[in-house]
Amino acid sequence: MVMSTKCTICNTEIKELFLGKLKGTIIKKSGNSKQYPICFSCQKKFQGKEEILEQLK
Ligand SMILES: [Zn+2]
Repeated sequence: MVMSTKCTICNTEIKELFLGKLKGTIIKKSGNSKQYPICFSCQKKFQGKEEILEQLK
């Protein structure tokens, strides 16, 4: 069974690699337990967590 996750920013499907590791990253907002999966290309496009969080508003 293959699990898929979609990027919060661009809605691209993120493929899950071995050992449950996503090709991308998971961003958490402070004071919020919700997790936001971010794909590898969005991770590269934005410099750092703060800039990614800006896109989530
Ligand atoms: Zn993305």
